[in-house]
Amino acid sequence: MQFYMPSKMPRIGISVSEMLENKDRKKPTWKPFDYLKREYHEAVQKSGGVPILLPNINDPSLAHQLIDMIDGLLLTGGGDIHPSYYGQAPHPTLTERTLNRDSFEMSIARLALERDMPVFSICRGHQVLNVALGGTLHQDLSCIKSDTVIHADPEQTARIYHKIKIARGTKLHEIIGSDIIETNSSHHQVIDKPGSGLKFSAFAFDDNIPEAIEHTELKFVIGVQWHPEAVFDREHSRRIFSAFIEASARK
Ligand code: MN
Repeated sequence: MQFYMPSKMPRIGISVSEMLENKDRKKPTWKPFDYLKREYHEAVQKSGGVPILLPNINDPSLAHQLIDMIDGLLLTGGGDIHPSYYGQAPHPTLTERTLNRDSFEMSIARLALERDMPVFSICRGHQVLNVALGGTLHQDLSCIKSDTVIHADPEQTARIYHKIKIARGTKLHEIIGSDIIETNSSHHQVIDKPGSGLKFSAFAFDDNIPEAIEHTELKFVIGVQWHPEAVFDREHSRRIFSAFIEASARK
């Protein structure tokens, strides 16, 4: 049996979640640890990339070392970025602070952008990308409207879906090839002002909340508010990951 192996598969750096030390936590450990849902690195691997998990170490010089080892950067989902990164005081709904992750992701995102390295960012990652370029967030959907579409299940027991409309003439539209798709939704924050060089490329169908951003000049810098890795069986999910891996292979 023969396996086809491309000569050079792009190496994709994947950011991971952080749990700080907590002596009251028994399992899996009270010690600080990093973790990632496998869906992210499986989606990278199934799309032809080599996944490399990036540790949350609060040392900007480490980000400089790691950026040389990867061809593309995937910023993943998770809790909220501390709002001090965009000049605001914490809202009561702010999730548990992840100091090392905030700092590390901000450093490596900026390095990737400086180098015009492909960056694909999901949910929290989409927000990190925006903040790394000087944009701001609404810290909670309650800050903007009272009658929005449901964008997250507060009990985290079921998946929520809603439709989005994708703007024509954007890279996202070119990749997905549809005006309207159904996406999952698991977020309580949303982008307010887009960062430098970014424009919105998709909006929730019923309430017009921004659901995707992209850079207008850099080769492949895309953020989505939904979770394509969690519904990888859907064609639009596979298309975005494939486009990202292809862009990283061309780097
Ligand atoms: Mn949503």
